[in-house]
Amino acid sequence: MNQKDLHLKSACEISNLVNSKQILAVDIAKYFLKRAHELNPKLNAFNSITDDLALKQAKEIDERIAKGENLPLAGVPIAVKDNMNVIGTKTTCSSKILENFVSTYESTVTQKLWNAGAFCLGKTNLDEFAMGSSTEYSAFGPTKNPYNLEKVPGGSSGGSACAVSARLAPLALGSDTGGSIRQPASFCGIVGLKPTYGLVSRYGLVAFASSLDQIGPFAMNCEDANLMLSVISGHDSKDSTSLNFKFNNNKLNKQDFKGLKVGVIKELKLDENNAKADLVKNINNSITLFKELGAEVKEISMPIASKHALDCYYIIAPAEASSNLSRYEGARYGHRSLKSDTLANMFAYSRSEGFGKEVKRRIIIGTYALSAGYYDAYYKKAQQVRRLISEEFMKVFEEFDVLLTATSPTTAFSFGAKMNDPLAMYLCDIQTIPINLAGLPAISINCGFDDENLPIGLELIAPPLKDKELLEIANCFEKNCVAGVPKCL
Ligand code: GLN
Repeated sequence: MNQKDLHLKSACEISNLVNSKQILAVDIAKYFLKRAHELNPKLNAFNSITDDLALKQAKEIDERIAKGENLPLAGVPIAVKDNMNVIGTKTTCSSKILENFVSTYESTVTQKLWNAGAFCLGKTNLDEFAMGSSTEYSAFGPTKNPYNLEKVPGGSSGGSACAVSARLAPLALGSDTGGSIRQPASFCGIVGLKPTYGLVSRYGLVAFASSLDQIGPFAMNCEDANLMLSVISGHDSKDSTSLNFKFNNNKLNKQDFKGLKVGVIKELKLDENNAKADLVKNINNSITLFKELGAEVKEISMPIASKHALDCYYIIAPAEASSNLSRYEGARYGHRSLKSDTLANMFAYSRSEGFGKEVKRRIIIGTYALSAGYYDAYYKKAQQVRRLISEEFMKVFEEFDVLLTATSPTTAFSFGAKMNDPLAMYLCDIQTIPINLAGLPAISINCGFDDENLPIGLELIAPPLKDKELLEIANCFEKNCVAGVPKCL
């Protein structure tokens, strides 16, 4: 078959072509590897491109197809965020402390993808240890936004979002602790889904804040995200937070919003006073489209989540991070300082040389919040507020099927714009963080562009384990939204 423009094909299309033997997985691998090598110097989406692994896996896929197997992700290239272990590849978390660390085991999510016929194209850039909202905190330089190379791709999963947006790969894996799948998806004009906490195994994901972290898909469209989620979800005995829930892997087919009750969170609603006019207009147009397709849309007040989620998150996430990151001390793996003369110095120097500024900031905040004299005042209080936020969501879901907000208060911003102001960076996630605290599923989907041709993301939030329903709603919106398929690069 004609191999031109293979990068424009969706994962579903690629899989059909490979299963029906119209193209070999090896030829797909060669095509996407070439494209990744051509464009990566410009975009810096990948920390590493895994040529040998991709070709080896593709060959095995072709052998399985030749034997008559039918594989849900046959020959589909995957970009994997570089905080997930893929055996034999470097897993750096975009940190100097893990710069030369090679994974000795495989994550459950990636193993499931390979079993389903996909192959690994490479490992993508992120904010160091997934802490950040712009991918500028990577130790290996920032990733660029494919729509405008002067703008950030969002973060922390900026490399994965960029890879899908620039069509370097049809699917990518991201991790979302406070918005790191949805916000970069929004900045890069693609679909990003944060599943219900526990729906996807975190075994093999380098932990940031374990009670919030969740792995999910980046895709060009909802049907591809649905396909990826159906492969990666499911119970895993290696992850004690994994749920025993079977995600239904049917294709998406919702045609309208008749009978659907949509809540618009009043306090998170953007207006001309706090956001760009184009952003406000596009979100309002999206609300109109929901109504035209039959939904009943009402404003709803969520004072606790909107007022306290950010404060609560920036206690809980750093507290858990400070504990999770204590394992990097230069003794067992990762960077070891050559300056050390005593064991204590080795720990101190290895950590101070290996970690970047933002990671150090979080470790200090987290250690402080967990220290004996302050634990009750900060960490315990934050956990209590977190419970109130979850309860507020559950109450709202007694009346509504889905909640709607913008994914981010802005479109992609310029490099350097928030680097000297950590609080401004933290505010980027005001629309996404409440969802992680409550463990809910949420999706970001493109709903238009601003006057600089930068993508705008719409966020939809569903009750726990309604991930399928959420994808159905997002897919129906996608099919009817005039923004259509975004074009870039
Ligand atoms: N931007 C948020 C933070 O820096 C969220 C990061 C994430 O979801 N990994 O903590």
